[in-house]
Amino acid sequence: MEGSREVSEFTNFDVKNVKLARSLGGLALELPVMNKKPPVGLLPDHEARHLNFSLTRPVSRPMSRQRNSTADVSMADKTNARAEQGINTRLAHTGNNPSDYHGFVNPPVVHASTVLFPNARTMETRSQKYTYGTRGTPTTDALCEAINELEGAAGTILVPSGLAAVTVPFLAYLSSGDHVLIVDSVYFPTRHFCDTMLTRLGVTVEYYDPSIGAGIENLIRPNTRLVHTEAPGSNTFEMQDIPAIAAAAHRHGCIVTMDNTWATPVYFRPLDYGVDVSIHAATKYPSGHSDVLLGTVSANAAHWPALSEAMVTLGVCVSPDDSYQILRGLRTMGVRLERHQASALAIAEWLEGREEVARVLHPALPSFPGHELWKRDFGGASGIFSFVLKADPENGKAKAHAFLDALSIFGLGYSWGGFESLAVHVNLSDRKVAKAPQEGPVIRLQIGLEDVPDIRRDVEAGLAAANAL
Ligand SMILES: *Cc1c(COP(=O)(O)O)cnc(C)c1O
Repeated sequence: MEGSREVSEFTNFDVKNVKLARSLGGLALELPVMNKKPPVGLLPDHEARHLNFSLTRPVSRPMSRQRNSTADVSMADKTNARAEQGINTRLAHTGNNPSDYHGFVNPPVVHASTVLFPNARTMETRSQKYTYGTRGTPTTDALCEAINELEGAAGTILVPSGLAAVTVPFLAYLSSGDHVLIVDSVYFPTRHFCDTMLTRLGVTVEYYDPSIGAGIENLIRPNTRLVHTEAPGSNTFEMQDIPAIAAAAHRHGCIVTMDNTWATPVYFRPLDYGVDVSIHAATKYPSGHSDVLLGTVSANAAHWPALSEAMVTLGVCVSPDDSYQILRGLRTMGVRLERHQASALAIAEWLEGREEVARVLHPALPSFPGHELWKRDFGGASGIFSFVLKADPENGKAKAHAFLDALSIFGLGYSWGGFESLAVHVNLSDRKVAKAPQEGPVIRLQIGLEDVPDIRRDVEAGLAAANAL
């Protein structure tokens, strides 16, 4: 019986919370529950949903900062207090309650498939917090909780890559016969998924102009189910009027998704602007070190159940080690972004004054067409932008390659958001509406955490090499 006593001690707290949540009919905001990823499918549907909502909805009402007289300050109390705090304070403290794990500052990395139940009844009803590895562990929960809080979301799922963070919600919400509207400046692999698998499954895909704004309404058909946004756009950084698009889409009952990888929730919170589902390649800034692949998808209350169920149905889950690394990355993401932002702006402004450059594509530059939208809605800019190198059509590629080959600090590589500077000659041949600039090749720069004078010297060497052609 020794063993079973230990098990019931381990689970007692969680079972109590499930019961309490049930008895309160879902009004369980104050409960010290850590698990933000609910055991969907394990409880009767309506109960599971109550749990989802009550445990994951962000609390916006102001709360007293006074501590409980009891020794333990619950996670819910902390979440309430954090609603008033600055972003770096929140990044430092969200997603883990040290007192839940003997005071350790960070959550344990739990490797798990099997979870034991204390008795047959609990097993039958699955009425304990953790039931199986694919459905969440203390490690994945800590990250989900942090992302929920940063996004202001009802719930978050973790998926193995940023691309899966696009494809899984599309599979969750779309059915054969549906029509979807996808922004034309979309991340290319998203387009590939839409043009292949989604089309094969009977969904009609249409691409729209990123500058369409409220005009999206004219494209909405009776069977339009979802409008996908991404701002700024991949590689060319077109801004979108997200509130106008969301309002028009909602008038027709469409779901609005947004790939918010560029801004992160530090600089833009999509759900506050009418978006239903916020998508992130956590591979980028949350990871910050070019060594983890992970995606997050966060939904508002209305769209959380379908998303959560899709994850369970598809069997999508992520490793505890990767989840831990992303949570670790969040702690420093705010200060890293400040440096990425400042350095990228310094390089972008300097490039604007260069003879060899036709245009700089960076939303924080007043010369950029989407600048006003960026200023209205976004709290900052991250560290990736592009510029158009002046060239004749016949030597554009040669100049782009000369530029890239002369770089020594910048690596030539895909992805971004890490500590190191990267450059790539962008291919825009997939565009249908938001066409490539005509003045020459587009070079995308991810500005890393190196010193600006060194980065500038490197870019200068690239420009000199391109000039020599
Ligand atoms: C990189 C990226 C993704 C995909 O992330 P991966 O983890 O590399 O699959 C999705 N959307 C945008 C906008 C990206 O830049």
